[in-house]
Amino acid sequence: MIDLDGVTCRYGRGEDNAESEGATAAVDEVSLAVPDGEFLVVAGANGSGKTTLVRTFNGLVEPDAGHVSVNGTPVEEDLVAARSAVGMVFQDPRDQLVAATVGADVAFGPENLGLSHDEIDRRVDEALAAVNMAGRERERIDSLSGGERERVAIAGALAMEPDHLVLDEPFTGLDEPARRSVVARLRALHREGTSVVVVTHDLRDVAALADRIVGLADGRIAVDAPPEEAVESLPGLDVRVPEGGGIGTQTE
Ligand code: ADP
Repeated sequence: MIDLDGVTCRYGRGEDNAESEGATAAVDEVSLAVPDGEFLVVAGANGSGKTTLVRTFNGLVEPDAGHVSVNGTPVEEDLVAARSAVGMVFQDPRDQLVAATVGADVAFGPENLGLSHDEIDRRVDEALAAVNMAGRERERIDSLSGGERERVAIAGALAMEPDHLVLDEPFTGLDEPARRSVVARLRALHREGTSVVVVTHDLRDVAALADRIVGLADGRIAVDAPPEEAVESLPGLDVRVPEGGGIGTQTE
């Protein structure tokens, strides 16, 4: 469970740490609970505060006010626990992928946990299977397509066995088949019990998967509702919704 209470984050403080004239908060007094097992979509226009908000979940961004706790422990009290409970997949896989080959990349996190070789191998196998990349350990990262890189980045986060998997704009730059493949993997992971948070300004792919959609505008929660209800208000927030506004069962 991730719990936010009155979280405010500001950028652009001057040298004297005073708020600059007219500066608005990137995230403004947000309170939000993300229960285990939930598929949550955080939607909003570019600049509405989505990335800043989810980065508070594991201490990548420290709030200026308010509190964030993960599984009941304040993030600032135990950063390691927060980072292992909340796995983050960044918007650009290039910010995430660190090794030359698929297997070495997915093993990187577990190796840093000091796990046994057998345990590392098990986690790498399971994580690659979960993103439909089983048996491709030896392939070079630079030989992969954009969709495959995204899936390797997801596998790297999964190998840490997080309670919540947070993906920031996972579909950026992907073509239609790659998008469908990533959506199918997220659907399968959620069915198997992983809690998923997807950040997006485009709901077409994920509206049908979401249990709940939180819509941000100017750093505040403007919508917090099940998808059928949320799509009514989201176009007003400059979020792209599925054709006709309907939430049908999507084909994979
Ligand atoms: P989103 O993910 O919805 O696009 P962000 O959280 O990236 O929103 O940004 C929210 C606001 O904070 C925007 O006005 C953005 O310009 C500002 N911002 C984000 N990151 C930084 C930063 N590192 N320094 C200064 N301002 C930032």
